[in-house]
Amino acid sequence: MNKKRIVLTFSLFTSLSISFGFIPFKIKEIKKTTLNKNSPNLIIILADDLGYADVGFNGCKDIPTPNIDAIANNGVKFTNGYVTYPVCGPSRAGLLTGRYQDRFGFTTNPTIDPENEKAGLPLEEEMISEALKKANYNSAIIGKWHMGTHPKFHPLKRGWDYFFGFLSGGHNYFPEKLTLNDYSEVKWAYGWYSTRIMENYNRIDINNYLTDELSDAAVRYIKKQSKLDQQFMVYLSYNAPHGPLQATEKYLDRFPNIIDKKRKTYAAMVSAMDDGIGRVLNTLKERNIEENTIVVFLSDNGGPIHKNASKNDPLRGKKGDLYEGGVRVPFAMQWKGNIKKGIIYKNPISSMDIMASICDLANVKTKNKLDGVNLIPFLKKEKKGTPHDVLFWRKWEQNAMAIRKGNLKLISNRQMQTNLPKLYDLSDDISEIKDIKGSNNKDADEMLNYWEEWNKENKDRYFPTLGNDKWWERNKK
Ligand code: CA
Repeated sequence: MNKKRIVLTFSLFTSLSISFGFIPFKIKEIKKTTLNKNSPNLIIILADDLGYADVGFNGCKDIPTPNIDAIANNGVKFTNGYVTYPVCGPSRAGLLTGRYQDRFGFTTNPTIDPENEKAGLPLEEEMISEALKKANYNSAIIGKWHMGTHPKFHPLKRGWDYFFGFLSGGHNYFPEKLTLNDYSEVKWAYGWYSTRIMENYNRIDINNYLTDELSDAAVRYIKKQSKLDQQFMVYLSYNAPHGPLQATEKYLDRFPNIIDKKRKTYAAMVSAMDDGIGRVLNTLKERNIEENTIVVFLSDNGGPIHKNASKNDPLRGKKGDLYEGGVRVPFAMQWKGNIKKGIIYKNPISSMDIMASICDLANVKTKNKLDGVNLIPFLKKEKKGTPHDVLFWRKWEQNAMAIRKGNLKLISNRQMQTNLPKLYDLSDDISEIKDIKGSNNKDADEMLNYWEEWNKENKDRYFPTLGNDKWWERNKK
């Protein structure tokens, strides 16, 4: 086709589109948005069920993570970085809204049911993607969604411009295992692990190991946005190293010295993710947008040590616990040229702070009041003190609570009426072993009152939880 013919075809397409009243994809794609140089791009890299001790920057010896470590070395390593809940769904709801998910009753993993109109992030809540839309950001969610499977909760209806991944809370990694066309073909619990990958609203086939595919999709998206000179956010939501434990020979071969099969597969899965993160970081370098892009890395909860052979040492507990091992996660951030290299930040911070930081930087007024805090002034030493006087946790189903105030932590990991809260001083007892409540009753009472005040505003669970239903039975008929 010669040049003249292309132009003719294009204008014919355009006039047809105008007369039929729709905007063709190609035209939408080349539309430029005014770039605000003061608002950086944002890349949130979320690992799934990664242990606190399983990154190099937290001392891991058997699994090298040079690329994840590079984020910490290029900027800041948070030694007291927390998520708002010790399992996937609620933790992500806190991260993506900048608010305690207890405020809107997202208290556990919602059921995966495309016909359930309640099981997802309430539409009244504003997601980070919706907030950044006000500052003309383009946003992509790549990987695990977990914010509802009903069509009304689809990412493209929640401020995201691009989706490549899966809607449920977990997935198979090998392409040959992705055999179901849709939820309508799911006939057993966790059958959704075998659904084909979605690109926007379409089911597509992938050729490679899922972790590699997700990394590739992120790289493609970043390249495209930077060519358009468009501000963007990427939420790269890996399902690695969440079960099922599946890894390719390429990554398994890197760990001949790990004998335990589970740990070896886990290591391979983490290594694949680390490779992908390296490709993302290289893309920023190649496109010369490193200094205009904030990169954050964290895990959505602590390692479920028995299930995937992860390690949270020296922290007590695991995924599902309000002990540090459930909620304190590997957490690092870089913003080259803006935040100094090699900061070790020890004050408690939260996943909710990511949305608060970017919205402040982009001068976005959020719909709801955030619980997160802009961390940048603290990291630049423009602001003194600590971002959070207190942090709260609640497990509504188990009637459990935790609160951290300074170095003190009051916690009842289940049924607080019968398992009375214990008090730990994390400054010399990071493993939460020695209950000091007896000699500090006043502090403990004050903290419990504070937690109860906070809890007064919280809501009960508003959707059916995962595992208590058998909706897929209807597909058998
Ligand atoms: Ca998780």
